[in-house]
Amino acid sequence: MTNQSGSKRPWAEPFRIKVVEPLKTTNAAYRSQALEEAGFNTFLLRSGDVYIDLLTDSGTSAMSDQQWAAMMTGDEAYAGSENFYQLEEAIRSAYGYRYVVPTHQGRAAEHIISRIMIKEGDIIPGNMYFTTTRLHQELAGGQFIDVIVDEAHDPDSEFPFKGNVDLDKLQGLIDRYGAERIPYVSIATSVNMAGGQPISLANLRELRELTAKYGIPIIHDMTRVAENAYFIKVREEGYRDAAISDIVLEICSLTDGATMSAKKDALVNIGGFLAVNNEEIFEEARNLVVVYEGLHTYGGMAGRDMAALAVGIGESIDEDHIRARVGQVQYLGEQLMKAGIPVVQPIGGHGVFIDAARFLPHLQQDEFPAQTLAAEIYLDSGVRAMERGIVSAGRNKKTGAHNYPRLELLRLTIPRRAYTQAHMDVVAASVNAVFRKRESIGGLRMIFEPRYLRFFQARFERGS
Ligand SMILES: *Cc1c(COP(=O)(O)O)cnc(C)c1O
Repeated sequence: MTNQSGSKRPWAEPFRIKVVEPLKTTNAAYRSQALEEAGFNTFLLRSGDVYIDLLTDSGTSAMSDQQWAAMMTGDEAYAGSENFYQLEEAIRSAYGYRYVVPTHQGRAAEHIISRIMIKEGDIIPGNMYFTTTRLHQELAGGQFIDVIVDEAHDPDSEFPFKGNVDLDKLQGLIDRYGAERIPYVSIATSVNMAGGQPISLANLRELRELTAKYGIPIIHDMTRVAENAYFIKVREEGYRDAAISDIVLEICSLTDGATMSAKKDALVNIGGFLAVNNEEIFEEARNLVVVYEGLHTYGGMAGRDMAALAVGIGESIDEDHIRARVGQVQYLGEQLMKAGIPVVQPIGGHGVFIDAARFLPHLQQDEFPAQTLAAEIYLDSGVRAMERGIVSAGRNKKTGAHNYPRLELLRLTIPRRAYTQAHMDVVAASVNAVFRKRESIGGLRMIFEPRYLRFFQARFERGS
């Protein structure tokens, strides 16, 4: 791999390893039984039966020595913990938002902001849905409508900013429903469901101009803002020499508030927050957090967890860290592309997304190609991946039919700082082994389906 400055010198992780966790290897017969017991759903596997775990980058990152040291400074006071003030200061200085409400993770912040801002019959436009975000918008009485650019739905398009908002689509919604029915525009940075694709600052600025005309706020899902900032630095004109920290601040300055799952970019195993600039919304959020999470100075987190998060926020926007983090994901993506495996391009920030529809073209979408592929890769090597296709897309609220998303993807998500390049080589070899026998692979049938977020707990069996 060429390093980020373009030279052919080898590249290495910008850290050395101080603590190790042994990995368990298993044989094919063992994995076959484990998979049956898990109903062919990788979410239902026991982690102890997994070799390299690429299910998610959520809460799976390795903390630094500085973060572990901060854990020891935990102030576990019920009220007014010192760590809350450290966290508040870290958020204000790294992101620029004024008011902070800690939550146990991202979806709790989504719940609170949705309850405060959305009323029955509202429309929430956004740059592609995220599962928990959309669910909380719907539970609050709203309807999410996708206004992402068309390129985002095309796995072959190499458009560099597939997270961009199509401003004509948004204008169309404003004309059709009226600005009063749009409580905010929901903008994710490094759009998860599109394959970790960034929004550009130019697009965000135009969006800001358009929404300001109608007095519509922007709420930012900033779960992967650092990865988005990295893509702006390397892809957007005028930012090559800008600091990641400045790009992050600029992104946040174009929005009115944010929900954060700190389990991703911010390098902690648990945590999140809601941050807003509007004082009235803050007061309401501070009130609701007491009902659903805990007092407003801990909101579901232990003091030590807030301390680790305060440090993690700083580390997440470090130049060497973010270059290596995204660089490792690119490395895996390049290995797969070299083997001819169909992946979403450009390679995203937090994972490599395989186009399961093209990997297994003989399967119908309701035979769950991506779910099938996740099962097959686990069987091959014990590597765990995740479905992002028809199972994740759920059912239409009104008709009860499956939603048929245009993207039927298998996600190999890379935890931050947890695995090495050698692990990436092993993963690529396993996907390649499954690819070579793809024609012999049959689909799945769903035999149990939970009502909400079915991908977490649905069960399957072979044969459709
Ligand atoms: C993970 C995630 C969330 C939800 O956060 P949790 O911490 O899992 O509750 C929201 N938005 C995006 C984009 C995410 O990736």
